[in-house]
Amino acid sequence: MKSSAFDYVRAESPQHALALLAQHGDDARILAGGQTLLASLNLRLSQPTLLVDIGGLADWRGITLQGSVLRIGALTRHVEIEESPLVALHAPLLAQAAPHIAHRAIRNMGTVGGSLAYADPAAEWPACVLALDGTLVIHGAAGERRVAAADFFHGLYSTALQEGELLAAVEVPLLQPGERHAFDELSRRHGDYAVAGLAARTRWDGRTLHDLRLAFLSLGDRPLRARGAEALLQAGPLDEARIAAADAALRAELQPFADLTHSAAAKTQMAATLMRRAVRTLST
Ligand SMILES: Cc1cc2nc3c(=O)[nH]c(=O)nc-3n(C[C@H](O)[C@H](O)[C@H](O)COP(=O)(O)OP(=O)(O)OC[C@H]3O[C@@H](n4cnc5c(N)ncnc54)[C@H](O)[C@@H]3O)c2cc1C
Repeated sequence: MKSSAFDYVRAESPQHALALLAQHGDDARILAGGQTLLASLNLRLSQPTLLVDIGGLADWRGITLQGSVLRIGALTRHVEIEESPLVALHAPLLAQAAPHIAHRAIRNMGTVGGSLAYADPAAEWPACVLALDGTLVIHGAAGERRVAAADFFHGLYSTALQEGELLAAVEVPLLQPGERHAFDELSRRHGDYAVAGLAARTRWDGRTLHDLRLAFLSLGDRPLRARGAEALLQAGPLDEARIAAADAALRAELQPFADLTHSAAAKTQMAATLMRRAVRTLST
């Protein structure tokens, strides 16, 4: 199938893109890497009359150290994050997660901003940004506003972005001494969307996990923290009894949907397996 006809404008500045969105409203769509949007146009799931290509906004591309955070422009491609020495040093969770995103050809084109704005609950970046307690930088007609990752993902393909707003960047805190990250997922084939996945960060003092954040992907309508399991795992020195209690809490708090290939029970089992693996990685 082919897309319906549309006009195309390459935005010259963020202001230009915002003005086009204000003028055309719901008839316009933002084009970043095109890896999700073009497929939905070709399937006629979306039939905009105007595409606003933001790919030329150079200020929204790249990875920079800014004080205590790593700022990643919305137009930074997945592969640039995968290969960035700054990311490897200051946010290794992102470097670990990147190779799980689709295939190389898609990572060469897809952008972090496109992934976060689209908010697919099976995507890797939303869970990572939640685990890292990141901040989303949003531009709109009224200027810039910042939203914590915990408040950004509202549900299935739904975010705090209002009509006419654009995601300009994401910021994540720099890795601190003693901090450890772990990312893993289970999928039918490498490159497929995850059936279940986990982005985790903690501080490990040799006996106890601190400030633990477990952010699951593909287990609900948005990336999900497992707060009950987190609380039990860091309530004292780590041992088998504590891990078993957290396992039980996790199974009680997660309520995944079945998908085309996996039951809710199978997904819960996968989540529990990922948590045990992450705890081992974070504590050894
Ligand atoms: C076969 C296949 C497999 C894939 N597997 C995975 C996977 O395993 N994991 C994964 O995470 N992703 C996967 N993807 C999706 C891929 O990572 C996309 O690149 C990503 O989801 C969207 O980024 P994009 O830059 O291509 O956005 P686009 O396709 O250009 O845009 C996506 C949506 O976001 C909006 N948008 C884009 N940028 C902005 C912005 N800055 N501000 C506001 N709105 C914006 C667009 O209007 C559109 O609605 C897969 C895609 C394909 C085709």
